[in-house]
Amino acid sequence: MRVYHTQQRKILIDFLQKNHNKSFTIEEIMSSIGESGISQSTAYRLITKLVEDGIVSRSVRGTGRSFVYQYINNEKCEGHLHMKCTGCGKVYHLDSGITSIIQNDIKSSANFEIDSHTVLLGKCNTCKE
Ligand SMILES: [Zn+2]
Ligand SMILES: [Zn+2]
Repeated sequence: MRVYHTQQRKILIDFLQKNHNKSFTIEEIMSSIGESGISQSTAYRLITKLVEDGIVSRSVRGTGRSFVYQYINNEKCEGHLHMKCTGCGKVYHLDSGITSIIQNDIKSSANFEIDSHTVLLGKCNTCKE
């Protein structure tokens, strides 16, 4: 049923939005939202759709094979670049001031305009040795 799915989608979005500084596996999401009536297969399907819609990012945590998901579609996320850690899969928000310095630098030196949805890959403080 459509309405039912919309509610389940909202529960997932609410949870990820509230914890947008963290990334979660489906199992972690399931245990965190608890008795919400969402089955794991439904959650998986809904999350996959959210990834397609650009609301949630999907990446691999460490050397594991399971995906982690993180909310990225903050209204505050307009106009700045993001950095994704290839170690833990976490997405970090780059300061908008630094974003425009980088964008302007590249624009003037390389005559290339970087899209603000660009995600920089690297290692976060926790993951670098
Ligand atoms: Zn952001
Ligand atoms: Zn990391």
